[in-house]
Amino acid sequence: MSRKGRFFSSLVIFLSALTTVQAQEASGPATDAKVIIIDPGHGGKDPGTLTKRTKEKDITLAMAKRLGSAIQQRIPSKILYTRTKDQFISLAERNRIANRNSCDFFVSVHVNSSPSKEAKGLEVYYLNNATDRAASKLAARENQGAPKAMKDVQAILSGLLQNDVTDDSAQAAGYVRKSLVQQVGKVFSVAPIRVKTALFYVLVGAKCPSLLVETGFITNPKEEQRLRSTSYQKALAQAVANGMKAYFDSLAHPRSDL
Ligand SMILES: [Zn+2]
Repeated sequence: MSRKGRFFSSLVIFLSALTTVQAQEASGPATDAKVIIIDPGHGGKDPGTLTKRTKEKDITLAMAKRLGSAIQQRIPSKILYTRTKDQFISLAERNRIANRNSCDFFVSVHVNSSPSKEAKGLEVYYLNNATDRAASKLAARENQGAPKAMKDVQAILSGLLQNDVTDDSAQAAGYVRKSLVQQVGKVFSVAPIRVKTALFYVLVGAKCPSLLVETGFITNPKEEQRLRSTSYQKALAQAVANGMKAYFDSLAHPRSDL
């Protein structure tokens, strides 16, 4: 389909999604439960990055469900998923869910790709002006289907930067990275594991700390194999959940040993 055609069909689907899609509640609330929104990237007609064997949308959904379970085992929480099956949800709808006032944390799960088979590693992103070229390219890819141009996103961003959610997200990203290094990097020899910033549309305007985790390069054969494995998916989910718990604990007991 032409670019224009794709845009208009996306717009139609976006408008119909607005009226039909609600965040899907996966579990009941507990007292003082944290409301955590988990966003498996892509879905339905949007497969994300593809290889001969693997679709990004399948890995992100499997990983997101494991992350939800891992969070529930560690943090008193009410988990909401932006999708729980192979379903197209527009970025605008995901963004609307992220902007709910009631959220305590929003985490989007993706899989990275590169023209180079050598590209590897884990990246934990929070929303800010992108400073490196690779991050800008990645954001452009993940932002496909956003209803407005990045110019508009930048306008929204200027407002976002006036609140303190960015600092919270940066803190949370630090805890998640630390946990990933200890529990995934050392066990599976994954490197590098980095915190980065970029303009991801899905995170714009979130009123709670928000991260986007690129869980590995699907275009790297070794990492693709790993991404498909239950053991890696579980370890990664547990590490992200542990990082989030450490972040929430730090709010109750501030410390500075990151
Ligand atoms: Zn993606």
